[in-house]
Amino acid sequence: MKFSAIPLYARILLGMIVGIAIGLLAVPCGFSGLVTDWVKPFGEIFMRLLKFIAIPLVMVSLIKGVGSLGDIASLSKIGLRTIGIYICTTVLAIAVGLVLVEAIAPGKIVGADSAAAMEADYRAAVTERSVQAEGMAEVPPLQFLVDIFPDNWIGAMGDNGRMLQIIVIAVLVGVAVLSVGRERTEPFMKLIDALDAILLRLIDLIMRYAPIGVAALMAGMVADTAGNLELLGALGLYVVTVVLGLLLMIFLFYPLLVHFFSKIPVRKFLRTMSPVQLLAFTTSSSAATLPLNMELVERKLGVSQRVTSFVLPMGMTINMDGTSLYQAVAAVFIAQVLGIDLTGVQLLTIVATTTLSSIGTPGVPGGSIVVLLMVLSSVGIPPEGLALILGLDRPLDMLRTVVNVTGDATVASIVDARTPVSE
Ligand code: ASP
Repeated sequence: MKFSAIPLYARILLGMIVGIAIGLLAVPCGFSGLVTDWVKPFGEIFMRLLKFIAIPLVMVSLIKGVGSLGDIASLSKIGLRTIGIYICTTVLAIAVGLVLVEAIAPGKIVGADSAAAMEADYRAAVTERSVQAEGMAEVPPLQFLVDIFPDNWIGAMGDNGRMLQIIVIAVLVGVAVLSVGRERTEPFMKLIDALDAILLRLIDLIMRYAPIGVAALMAGMVADTAGNLELLGALGLYVVTVVLGLLLMIFLFYPLLVHFFSKIPVRKFLRTMSPVQLLAFTTSSSAATLPLNMELVERKLGVSQRVTSFVLPMGMTINMDGTSLYQAVAAVFIAQVLGIDLTGVQLLTIVATTTLSSIGTPGVPGGSIVVLLMVLSSVGIPPEGLALILGLDRPLDMLRTVVNVTGDATVASIVDARTPVSE
């Protein structure tokens, strides 16, 4: 059997297992440095290949999607529907996190000694993040709105962090195509069609490298974080709370939403999502996972291109259910360890700030840490508390990224079911 004939998810899984094995062997043999220098770069190459395709893919498929809409009014209907559903899933995720962390109360069992040791170990890292967070907090209130609009086409395309600007450019071009009319824009739309096909083939080619890239990423991750695993003893229940919440989202809440609000059978949804989820798990980046998510949701789940091209890139930027759940649990956990009793109003403030801040979280590894500091300060929890959870951030980041991308695909399926073909 040819290797390429093995299903994508199995190839990624194999890469993951080989990578973890390399990392686990390297740590006790003292080869962690070698893995970081000689193996991890192949994972970084894979991340770059995935990310380099994201901007052209979003641009081309969104122009194609908007250009094929019935009229301009349909666009605002799809847009409003998408944002509304995204907010609902985020609030649901935060509620799940809060209920679990209040019920399990993992912070009540962490001893003062472990807390002090972690605080000392991670003090420098927390200070560095605090400086970044202060910089973010000083930004004028409406700056986020201003930043959605590009002042330079090339500049917007030169930075993956400006995905919302790409969406604005592509939507505007699509709207212009609609208003100029099909006849005169036909050659342009044919070009866009051809580019779309080429980009999809590029994703296939890049995914052939996935097993090697994933193995290298996992080996590097294990080599880098193995030393922190002793933290698991002290933080075990906290990890259980986060993981339980994230698994409930993946295996209970999203399937329920798909079952009741979309036309896609749950089994098909879960089967299609598995390579996307494994990729999100191994890269810890929803930005890097976006191209594969767009391809599979459209090709395998049959969600229309006008919906995937709009809903998924937008979700990658503004919808982070896993991150929101994690931030809510982390904030309450830190408060519990520090003996701070949060009032109902403070819990509601956490819901509001986590919902808003997840919009500003970049879809990259560890993207939410700086943002979490802002959530902590909104309810008066000392930022030093971050030291408690920093050591185990990476493994949890992997799982929350899986939730982030699954949430985006769930919403795309729901929006598609609610968008008549005529719109
Ligand atoms: N790594 C996450 C993502 O890319 C963001 C975060 O929670 O840190 O979606």
